[in-house]
Order: sequence, then C-alpha cells, then structure tokens
Amino acid sequence: MNFSQDKALVVFSGGQDSTTCLHWAINKWGRENVRTITFDYGQKHRVELQSAREICDKAKIIFDLIYIPDVLRSSSPLVDISEKLDQFSNLTQVKPGLQNTFVPGRNILFLSIAGNLASHFGIANIVTGVCQEDFGGYYDCRQSFIDSMQATLGEGIAGDKSIFKIHTPLMDLSKKETVMLAKSLGDECLEALALSHTCYAGLRPPCGKCHACLIRARGFEEAGFDDPLVKNYNAL
Ligand SMILES: [Zn+2]
Repeated sequence: MNFSQDKALVVFSGGQDSTTCLHWAINKWGRENVRTITFDYGQKHRVELQSAREICDKAKIIFDLIYIPDVLRSSSPLVDISEKLDQFSNLTQVKPGLQNTFVPGRNILFLSIAGNLASHFGIANIVTGVCQEDFGGYYDCRQSFIDSMQATLGEGIAGDKSIFKIHTPLMDLSKKETVMLAKSLGDECLEALALSHTCYAGLRPPCGKCHACLIRARGFEEAGFDDPLVKNYNAL
C-alpha cells in the first residue's frame, strides 16, 4: 500500500472550523490533492450537509458523503430529537466542563472511516478541525486523543504507527485566532464561511443563542470584523 505525503483528506462538516481547515489544506497541498469526507450521522442540524456540499462545489473539491444515520446513540440533543438544546444569552451562562452536546465515540468513528478512505486513495494526511480550546470539553477534541488515534489508525491499517499524520491546525487556537487564520487564507475562504453552518439548532439564519452560535459570534467580534454568514442574512 502506498501513501502519498502530498495528498490530504479533510474531515468536513460544513461548519466554520472544518471550512477553515479545508482552505488551509488547499493552501498547503493544492486543490487537486485535497478531498473531503462528510458524515450524515443523523444530526439534528442536517442543514450543515447542504452547506458542506455548497462549499465543496464552490471550491471544486470532491464532496463525499458517508451515510451512517443510525449508528451513533446518545442523549446529546445533536442526535436525540427529544432532548432540548440549551440556549444562553451569553457565554458566561455556559457551565464549564463537558457539555451535553457531546456524542461519545463520534470522532473515533469519523476518523476510523476517514482512515479507511485515506487508505483506499493512498492519502497519508488527514485533517480535522478539532480544537481543545473550545468550551465543550469534548475528550475526542484533545491533542492526546489525536496522538492516540493517529497511532491506532496507522497500526491497524498499515502495521505502522507513523503512516498517517492527523493535522489539527486549529487545536490550540482561540475562536478569534481561527477567524484570523481564515482571513489570512484570503477571500475564497471568507466567501466559503458565508456558506458554512455552525448553529446546533440547525437554523438559517443562525439562532444566536446556542453554545456554537455564541462561540462563533465571539470569535468574529474579537477579531474585529463581521461574520460573512451573518452579514449575508443582514443584507437580505
Ligand atoms: Zn445556534
């Protein structure tokens, strides 16, 4: 099995972080060497799948949707429609620690399937937009998990812990720094962010009151410019 160091697979949700990662990857490896993988896991905010498709079309990148809607079981309001999503008027109301939106095993599953696809196409680089600075406290967004998963994928797929490199360009960035990174990647990235989706409630325009909306809004506010997504709706 050959694995090219010059190709990358981006785990792509259609959200702010993975959209920034997609353009980071295009910038690093070239458009023709990048492909994406997106998961329909029965998420309540399914509108993000439409965003993912639109962003890939615009960037002329292959959109590859993996359909696993009945696999992940959780009381997280992201996948259980009977659970109510918490709403806040600002981030100070969000209790620290693990949020109830956590879906156990989600990134383990996604990265395992990404490893399979990367192996199929001979791709050595996997990119994911996880960030340990996010308030969610998700265990599968930490660097220690990524290091462990990288070794596990290599060991299990190619008998070599070092075959895959899992890139996490946002791991230690604040949301403000992620916004600044997107800006540094140019207009194409910012235009893609106008199509991206972050709101856990699945609303367009975004609800502005869920944990994800509040973190996104604070990032743009601290970076000192308007979120292209919100600006688009305000212009309507
Ligand atoms: Zn929201």
